Amino acid sequence: MIYEDYYIFTPGPVKMSEEILEIGAKQTPYFRNDKFSEVTFNCEKGLLEMVNAPEGSKVIFLTASGTAGMESVVMNLLTKDDNALVVHGGGFGGRFVDICATHNIPHTDFQVKNTNLYNIDKLAPKENYTSLIVNAHETSVGHIYDLDAMGNYAKENNLFFIVDAISMLVTDPIDMSAQNIGAIVASSQKGLALPPGLTMVILSPEAIKRVQDVKNLYFNFKDYLRNGERGQTPYTPAVTIMLQLEARLAQIKRRGGVVQSIQKAKDIAEYFRANIKDLPLKFYTPYMPNAMTTLTPTDGKSAMDIVNGLEDGYKVMVCPNGGAKRDIIFRVSHMGDMTKAYVDVLLDAMYDFYGKKRK
Ligand SMILES: *Cc1c(COP(=O)(O)O)cnc(C)c1O
Repeated sequence: MIYEDYYIFTPGPVKMSEEILEIGAKQTPYFRNDKFSEVTFNCEKGLLEMVNAPEGSKVIFLTASGTAGMESVVMNLLTKDDNALVVHGGGFGGRFVDICATHNIPHTDFQVKNTNLYNIDKLAPKENYTSLIVNAHETSVGHIYDLDAMGNYAKENNLFFIVDAISMLVTDPIDMSAQNIGAIVASSQKGLALPPGLTMVILSPEAIKRVQDVKNLYFNFKDYLRNGERGQTPYTPAVTIMLQLEARLAQIKRRGGVVQSIQKAKDIAEYFRANIKDLPLKFYTPYMPNAMTTLTPTDGKSAMDIVNGLEDGYKVMVCPNGGAKRDIIFRVSHMGDMTKAYVDVLLDAMYDFYGKKRK
């Protein structure tokens, strides 16, 4: 399978730019030197700026997929004395529940539906919590939560706020300082539009104070923080992806900063949504991120048949859902190196698939 021939609208990995692809084709350099430390520092600085992290925040770079970022945060920042309220509105929220259970962190599985939690103060169970955990964009269903409301709730109730921002960073707004976020989990293969394999944990000074002595060698934040002071990691980092991250952060800056990137993702999402009006599809949720659109067929067709039809007939990759939602929804990502012309390929394929003329 030559993936270059495909049009990519999956929510991770996403379409990467030529500039980033070129770096991936080069020899990986040695990294235990000042030159690479500088790369690490640049990546850290760029990420902290991007999320408006408070003074004194640090970034931990793990060579792993995003789930390792989620798990390491729970392991290093929460203890048996905590009580976490875990927002569970889909597969990724369920994963945080499993992580808390695995590590014996007291928690409530806060199952939510049809709400972006703008009124979390009314909806949350009335228990004494110490922490609030959410996947800002629940990628399994394309649903985004109200981080402003949640941040206010966290502040009022003195909760340590953990946000998985993996699939909304770069496409949707997040502000670590204004939203009282203690720790953010990021990952390379979503909005950052890099290959998978690098996950980043952004720690506020409050989070750094919380870091435990964990019984774990690889995911020991103290070790990463110590090495981070000289721009290094305890073990071999995803060197090439870090080089790509450095370039990507510079690219975002060059193109007008993260505000501009968010605006562009919004334009692309709105363009797509406005242009599918004549197709027998409806939006799955009213709380859509710029990052993605989740669609439900209204003509009885199986969502899976649409996914397969677009891939087989047009080399267009959208994303199916597994399990019970297999026939009910499919997902279209707006993350990565998108243009309206590129989205037109998808739109034309969809109209052709339905035997309809695009107006
Ligand atoms: C993709 C994603 C992850 C990470 O999944 P991995 O497969 O471990 O990279 C975590 N949270 C959210 C919200 C995601 O979209």
